[in-house]
Amino acid sequence: MSAELYQALIMDRSKNPRFAGALADYDAAADGENPMCGDRTKVFIKRDGMQVGHESRGCAIMLASADLMAEAVAGLDAAHVNELSRAFEATVTSGAADDRLGALNALAGVHEYRSRIKCATLPWTALRDALNGDV
Ligand code: ZN
Repeated sequence: MSAELYQALIMDRSKNPRFAGALADYDAAADGENPMCGDRTKVFIKRDGMQVGHESRGCAIMLASADLMAEAVAGLDAAHVNELSRAFEATVTSGAADDRLGALNALAGVHEYRSRIKCATLPWTALRDALNGDV
């Protein structure tokens, strides 16, 4: 995909999230905050069948990352979620696309803006916290 299409995807998912809101039935939730940018997110998970919802306020990068994350991890087991999480962090740090990430590669360009990497990884940190939390 071109940089323009990636940018359009980020804007679309930040304005029209598909996975926004608390899950009606969830096992765990965790908050994330990025004071540098004013980003806040709360990630909800249901482990059985892996469903993720999020309540997020902040910049387009964080909003798009949260929503694309919820889509990407749907149906995965915890081990695969952790694998994807590590792959995503590597991609937003290095800028190198990773086939496993699919649409999340739209955020690879963030590596050029060191201060925004935390925006992209914030929802993933909250997701890992939720996964490690009590059922
Ligand atoms: Zn941000």
